[in-house]
Amino acid sequence: MMPPVPGQLWSCHTCGHCCRTLVEHITDEERALIDEQGWAGKLGVAPYVRLGRGWVLNKHEDGACVFLDDENLCLIHAKYGERAKPLACRIFPFSVRAVPGGWQASLRFDCPSVASGKGEPLSEHSRWLGRVANSLPHSPGENAETADLCRGVRGTAEEIDTLVGRFLMWLGGDEVPFSARVVGAARVTQTLSSAKLDSVRGERFVELVDLLFDALPGECPEAPEPPTRKQQAMLRQLVFAHSEHLTLAEMQVGAVGKFGHRVRQVQGARRFLRAFGDVPPIPGLTGAATFPAVEAVRCGGDDARAIEDLQRRYLYGRFCGRSVFGEGYYDWPVFAGLAALWLSVSAAGWLARCSAAAAGRDVLTLDDAAFAIGVVDRAATRAPALGTMAERTRVLYLMQDEGVARLVHRYALTGEAAS
Ligand code: SF4
Repeated sequence: MMPPVPGQLWSCHTCGHCCRTLVEHITDEERALIDEQGWAGKLGVAPYVRLGRGWVLNKHEDGACVFLDDENLCLIHAKYGERAKPLACRIFPFSVRAVPGGWQASLRFDCPSVASGKGEPLSEHSRWLGRVANSLPHSPGENAETADLCRGVRGTAEEIDTLVGRFLMWLGGDEVPFSARVVGAARVTQTLSSAKLDSVRGERFVELVDLLFDALPGECPEAPEPPTRKQQAMLRQLVFAHSEHLTLAEMQVGAVGKFGHRVRQVQGARRFLRAFGDVPPIPGLTGAATFPAVEAVRCGGDDARAIEDLQRRYLYGRFCGRSVFGEGYYDWPVFAGLAALWLSVSAAGWLARCSAAAAGRDVLTLDDAAFAIGVVDRAATRAPALGTMAERTRVLYLMQDEGVARLVHRYALTGEAAS
């Protein structure tokens, strides 16, 4: 089913962003079809190339797919129809996953039309996406509907549904400002992750969750302490992990090139850790920003409402698409996945500030927020580095001492115009 995200619209506006920025893997059958269509002779370049053990659509030097024409249209689509395109291209900006009784779609916010919520209601796309999803040779995994709540404590489908429903209800409420709701959600996550849940199961678990959410409106006026220097440094490293995005040419380098890339990676990670001088280049961002300039950018400008709407749709999309924990997020336990989600929002807050600072502004705009959420969403669930044990350890560390809530508050995308 489609993610039931209130207010989310989408249609493809043929901006070509996906065809320029993503590396699309193709199957052997898709490769054979491209051969049958005789593209090698028509394009003048190889239509696909090897990448590791698989194959991907080839790119021009500027990153554009070799099938992208001057009007941002796909040559395969134009000549043979939508169904002739590789699956990865057909379903973007949706991701689909098999679940018992059908399929579950999630949305990708690195598509500008998703981020700006432009187009038709998602229900209009249900039919064709369902047709594609049902043709996929995948079946639901054993754990499609459950996950560990925390290490060693398996959540039931009912407990997890209740938890997700309560987070959505809280985020969609209006008792307190949206930025405070995100901080509150981070606080509930931290509290639940530190609770001894072995004997608090079923109805008692639901009662505990209700209790925590019911107490939130009273707790919200109390803002968390500012994050410590170490917490901020860890967030910047998370920003670095999210913003690394390799082009096809960078992925194709040999052993020497890979070593050079690793060296640059370590140097970049160090600069993010120390926050000294200029922020290293971030793919997709033009202009340079210094670390102090990033910290000085404020939220709460004229675009605050639109940014709030974008952030709400993004969070709803992640929850409704269940791309937050378990099979939907590197097989992580529920609370670790939730903490990673709130931290990704803080990472987006930092990146949006970087975008503003690089353009010489000191207040966030909707474009800054859309860029940042697109970067974060492109990486979440897809960047192998974000699913590692090292990353999980970082997230668990930040759950202590209110680290997640402090960072969410400090790097909020919306809220009062305060730094
Ligand atoms: S990024 Fe979105 S709007 Fe742009 S071409 Fe791709 S699917 Fe269409």
